[in-house]
Amino acid sequence: MIIGVPKESFPGEQRVALVPAVLPSLAKAGCEVLMEAGAGEAALYPDAAYVEKGVRIVASRHELFASADAVFQVLAPGANDRTGRTDLLLLKRDQVLIGFLRPLGSPETVQEIAATGATAFAIELMPRITRAQSMDALSSMATVAGYKAVLHAANILPRMFPMLMTAAGTVTPARVLIVGAGVAGLQAIATARRLGAVVSAYDIRPATKEEVRSLGARFVELPLEAADAEGRGGYAKAQDESFYRRQRELLARVVAESDVVITTAMVPGRQAPVLITAEMVASMKPGSVIVDLAAERGGNCELTRAYETIVGHGVTIIGEVNLAGSVPHHASQMYARNIAAFYLYLVKSGALELNLDDEITRDTLVTRGGEVVHPRVREALKLPPLGVSALAEEPLRGTDAKKGEGASDAV
Ligand code: NAD
Repeated sequence: MIIGVPKESFPGEQRVALVPAVLPSLAKAGCEVLMEAGAGEAALYPDAAYVEKGVRIVASRHELFASADAVFQVLAPGANDRTGRTDLLLLKRDQVLIGFLRPLGSPETVQEIAATGATAFAIELMPRITRAQSMDALSSMATVAGYKAVLHAANILPRMFPMLMTAAGTVTPARVLIVGAGVAGLQAIATARRLGAVVSAYDIRPATKEEVRSLGARFVELPLEAADAEGRGGYAKAQDESFYRRQRELLARVVAESDVVITTAMVPGRQAPVLITAEMVASMKPGSVIVDLAAERGGNCELTRAYETIVGHGVTIIGEVNLAGSVPHHASQMYARNIAAFYLYLVKSGALELNLDDEITRDTLVTRGGEVVHPRVREALKLPPLGVSALAEEPLRGTDAKKGEGASDAV
């Protein structure tokens, strides 16, 4: 099998889908790797480091797509809504494509990928099960984003994070509030603690209480009980507007006392709930910072503007959406391990073997044989469910693709 790694083409994207360290495991499985020249450069992986591990560098993207059995990308068409379209012209029948595809946000692009005949996997649909942990790129990127969110805030805040007792007097520590203690939130807590801040956190899932406390943060107890807070795969369930209104009222005091608020609250398949109103922003001290990691999904703060950093009521509100991409070296390293583990999981004895009885394959597979095969993407496109007979015509193992439900549409 020949794996092709094109250079990421989304403007400003610095990550790369494979790094030299994972190449031996792919070679051992009989895979040859082709890479577009300079694909790893922005993440500080020079071509020479790949060549040393047996990679063939090609100058032309056309040649790369033409020769590859499988194409690995970070932002594939769909997630790359700027330049991804040009790659659609290069995809070919039965070629495997793996990357972030934003399948539920851009279902029309998935339909266009299907039209090329390619077999595409959306890595963000990886189920949140123990077996799939090594392939969970969404969690890897959330980890990096949580870390970087704190650094951004610390950089902008006109105060220091740690408490200092110096000859020039005592400096009080910054107060940091994390709303949403999932993967990104927990990493944000750990990072803010390492910098010496006093950290509080809140999540509607009661299971997070212990995790928050074990990282040395205070769990904010709100007299508010979410009905059925946790759904499939450990994700939060959406609540009604009266719940969110009450949550805002109860969070108001904690927000006003915080120097930094980092929000990560999300519910799969929905717009992010608004948990911080303009009025709450106005109650914060001037110079405070909000980093809204839910910006791309509408934002947890009413004033957030996705992709932008703004100042409202004297508070800086960061709505950057690709924080993981701003740490390209390690984000690429983690992504490469995830995508390589996933591909090696799909390949048996040197050939791709698709077992639709397996949750990992079924949940991530979005196109095959010219069709959009993922039930939720079909639903988003208003296409009728794919009949069992249609699937049976495909040379796949298993016929219960209809059961497949992606874990998340977060990217
Ligand atoms: P996410 O990014 O979708 O959501 C972030 C957090 O926001 C979640 O913790 C959620 O409970 C919280 N939230 C939602 N609405 C909220 C509200 N109104 N107020 C406050 N918080 C709110 O999710 P995530 O961070 O990727 O992870 C979610 C869960 O999945 C966690 O339990 C995590 O441990 C689990 N997970 C499991 C695996 C695995 O087992 N393989 C892998 C990754 C994540």
